[in-house]
Amino acid sequence: MYDKINQKIKKYAARLVVVSKTRSLEAIKKIYDLGQRDFGENRVQELMDKKDDLPEDIRWHLIGHLQTNKVKYIAPFAYMIHSVDSKKIWKEINKEAEKNERSIKILLQIKIAKEDSKYGFDSEELYELLDKTPPHMFPHTEVCGVMGMATFTDNMDQVRDEFRRLKKHFETIKENHFKDKSSFQEISMGMSGDYEVALEEGSTMLRVGSIIFE
Ligand SMILES: *Cc1c(COP(=O)(O)O)cnc(C)c1O
Repeated sequence: MYDKINQKIKKYAARLVVVSKTRSLEAIKKIYDLGQRDFGENRVQELMDKKDDLPEDIRWHLIGHLQTNKVKYIAPFAYMIHSVDSKKIWKEINKEAEKNERSIKILLQIKIAKEDSKYGFDSEELYELLDKTPPHMFPHTEVCGVMGMATFTDNMDQVRDEFRRLKKHFETIKENHFKDKSSFQEISMGMSGDYEVALEEGSTMLRVGSIIFE
């Protein structure tokens, strides 16, 4: 499946982040040995437990909701944080990145699913925040784009619609706040059940787990 997804991705300008949560070190190592370097975890504790037993050149993506008190653990090494869903967590990441004398790549997570349970900024709330708190106020973060999760459903028309909305938000935010920033380029969307639709709708980063390890 790993090869199949990579074949498919080649036709698009997208990257694959292999979501390794709940997977064993052996299983992760196998995918690493196929050449994969971008891996995603959704829990800080699990990431900390695994990371030292895995190769150092892995680029670790934090993709799950993050609590402020956990940021300090991942700030020294995290490659990208996809799940920035409040000003509070953005500020904390900036602070911890500064302590570590580095800059951390982040994505702004936007709520696009119908379910209430999904984390993420309300788009209105995010637009307001970006107007009031321009990104240069957090100079130790590099805002690379947006992230979203579609509703968990078999209705691919709905999923497509939600991905289109995310892309629209990406374009609006880029136009209003990151026009001259070439680093604002990522749309992180697409999981095992909907990655094909996500690619068709302009995803630049897939976060795919189950179908790769099964
Ligand atoms: C688990 C997870 C994924 C991957 O889901 P799969 O269905 O296993 O591909 C992607 N994004 C986030 C935020 C996740 O928590």
